[in-house]
Amino acid sequence: MEKLEQAEVSVVEQERLVTETNAEGMRLSNEAKAVVADETARSERLTRDRAALAGTVPAELLALYESLTARSDGAALLRARTCDGCHMVLSGTDLQVMRGAADDEIVNCPECGCILVRTNESGL
Ligand SMILES: [Zn+2]
Repeated sequence: MEKLEQAEVSVVEQERLVTETNAEGMRLSNEAKAVVADETARSERLTRDRAALAGTVPAELLALYESLTARSDGAALLRARTCDGCHMVLSGTDLQVMRGAADDEIVNCPECGCILVRTNESGL
């Protein structure tokens, strides 16, 4: 009789664990679905933003950028004489070439090849 009571207590405990586990699984599943929905919405928003922005860039420059993204960041800020794409500090010779380039001329990082965006922080 005592073994039967122990078995019944064990069954109740196991049923409680199953119920708890199912509830936790449901909670985690709902949480995961919410994260996936948020990230899907974010991805769709970024895709729309990128398409809108890409529409403002000359086709030739956009094509160059997209071809460069196969092997680099595509474009990076030149900050303090350093490429933000590969973090290489440009040599004096490279910087001299960039100083001589027109403002609208495309210049590339000699290391990674990405288009370097020049600003007042470029150190030129
Ligand atoms: Zn670089």
